[in-house]
Amino acid sequence: MARIFINYRRQDSEGYVGRLYDHLLRHFEAEQVFMDVDSIPMGVDFVTFLDEAVAQCDVLLAVIGPIWAAAANDEGARRLMLEDDFVRIEIEAAIRQGKTVVPVLVGGAKMPRTADLPITLHPITRRNAVELKHAQFAKDVDRLAEGVRRLTAVKAPASSAVRAEKEAALKAIRSDLIAATDSPLYPLRQENRFFPVLGDGNADATLLFISEAPGINEAKEGRPFFGQSGAVLNEMLATIGLTREQVFVTNFVLDYMGGKREPKPAEIAYYAPFVDRICEVIRPAVIVAMGGTAMKVLLKKYEQPEASQKISEIHGKLLPVTASWGAIHIVPTYHPASVLYSASWKAWLREDFQKLKLFV
Ligand code: URA
Repeated sequence: MARIFINYRRQDSEGYVGRLYDHLLRHFEAEQVFMDVDSIPMGVDFVTFLDEAVAQCDVLLAVIGPIWAAAANDEGARRLMLEDDFVRIEIEAAIRQGKTVVPVLVGGAKMPRTADLPITLHPITRRNAVELKHAQFAKDVDRLAEGVRRLTAVKAPASSAVRAEKEAALKAIRSDLIAATDSPLYPLRQENRFFPVLGDGNADATLLFISEAPGINEAKEGRPFFGQSGAVLNEMLATIGLTREQVFVTNFVLDYMGGKREPKPAEIAYYAPFVDRICEVIRPAVIVAMGGTAMKVLLKKYEQPEASQKISEIHGKLLPVTASWGAIHIVPTYHPASVLYSASWKAWLREDFQKLKLFV
């Protein structure tokens, strides 16, 4: 159930927001739409308070009216440039928490220029905005509501015929992988009688997990995440009520690499067409990139600026991208193996998995 947070500046768009709220209630339950944060209790850090309020929601609608960026306080300072501006704090919290932020333009407002925004708000200028025009307000809100639904929708399960087609398509990819004798890792596979590891799970999964490369245990079994890190993955899935059979798990390199090392660009490039085919068959709503390498490969593929960031900076964020089959989210997480020796990393991984609940 999607929860929507309406962020707005009273001075700028109070009237429009009242109308927006009323129209949204034709699409959502009142408990799903948050408009005014209740008064902040005395002595409570308001940044923390607003951060927690935003954390309750899945989507933040940043309503931008004609004087949104220019609105000033009594001293003439632009509110948006002040660190105690609630509008700014809420949007910053949503960006930091990886929430979906949708700029909603009202009253003929245009998307503000990055030069007029504090640097922390620059990411919103890259989000697709929705305009609510006076003459077709109800229609525009219908479109916005539909978009919010799509962003947070649980993927509709495929019919049994389509599921069978998907399973057959995965089988065909597996056969092609077995026959991939020109792979740079084929000699190692053949010498040791290892199996290639295509991945396994639900051919129609909502959540597709992609990591780096199979370890030796996985290559002996021909299944991904079979060893200790597999146990961590299973444990994390259980915290959100899922089993391995309900999701699909694979890697960017589909053969054992012969030891602990980063995959070479040529290896990733070799297996990319196989991984693309897997994605096209499954058509997930979310791709979870486990570990820094997987995160980088995936974000580069979708040309996301976050590709240059560290996994410690963006783990747990919901990054909206457009795949060939529609709008999806990428969620980077720590690698399950990396949390084996760190209780705090494990706690973060658990928190990141909680975000996935939105889609299941
Ligand atoms: N680590 C990975 O990155 N992939 C696996 O399949 C197993 C361990």
